[in-house]
Amino acid sequence: MRILITNDDGVHAEGLDVLEAIARQLSDDVTVVAPETDQSGVAHSMSLNDPLRLRKLGEGRYAVRGTPTDCVIMGVRHILKGKPDLVLSGVNRGSNVAEDVTYSGTIAGAMEGTLLGVPSIALSQAFGPTTGRMGILWECAAAHGAAIVRKILDLGVPKDSLVNVNFPDRKPDEVAGVAVTFQGKRDTELMNVEERRDGRGLPYYWLTFNRNRFEPGTGTDLEALAQGRISITPLRLDLTDEPTLTRYAAAFG
Ligand code: MN
Repeated sequence: MRILITNDDGVHAEGLDVLEAIARQLSDDVTVVAPETDQSGVAHSMSLNDPLRLRKLGEGRYAVRGTPTDCVIMGVRHILKGKPDLVLSGVNRGSNVAEDVTYSGTIAGAMEGTLLGVPSIALSQAFGPTTGRMGILWECAAAHGAAIVRKILDLGVPKDSLVNVNFPDRKPDEVAGVAVTFQGKRDTELMNVEERRDGRGLPYYWLTFNRNRFEPGTGTDLEALAQGRISITPLRLDLTDEPTLTRYAAAFG
C-alpha cells in the first residue's frame, strides 16, 4: 500500500512524525509531502499566483512552500506520478471539529486527496485547558491511529467523502471508546478581533476564538471529545442544503 502523508502544521511539526509512525505501521511505502511553514487555518486554498518550490529533505520526504492542498497535488501529480492508495493528513495539533472543519488545512489535505480519487483521512489530536497546546498528548493518536485507519480502510471510504478522525485529550489507556459522529456546531459565535498596539503605538489586530462554554449536541464530534472518545466523522464534499434547495426550487419555479 502506497501512502502519501501531509499536514498543515508544517514539515517540522511533531504531529507529522506521529502520523509517519502511524503510516509505517500500515506500510513501508510512505511518502511525506508537507508545507515548509505552519499553514493552520488556510483551509482548501491553493497557490495560483506564486511558484511552488519543492525541497527534497531525504528519501521520500519533501517540503513544499505552499498549502496542504498544494502538497497533495504535488505529491500525487508530480512526486509519486500516480495515485497513492491512501492520503493521510495530520496529525494536527488541536482538534478539528464542528465549524473548524471549514477553516482547517488538515481537513483540506484530505479533501484534496478525495478530489484526486484517493481514499483520504484527516487526523487531529485534541488538547484541553489542563494539558494545553504544548502539553498535548500525542501518545493518544500514536497508540490508536493505525488501528482506526486500518478499520476505516476495511469498511471503505466512498469516493466523494473523506473521514475526519479526532483523538481526545486523554492518555491512550484512558480513552473511553470510539464514536462515529455528526459534524457538530458550537452554540456560540466563534471569532473575535483583538486590537493591540505595536512598538510605535500603532494598532494591529489579532483574531481570537471565543472559548465560551457550550453544550455539545448529541451524537456530535464535540460530544465525543468531551466524553473522552475517539471521534470518526465521515464528511461529504457536496455541501448542498437539500431542504432549502427544494424550497427555493418550488419558489423560483
Ligand atoms: Mn494545524
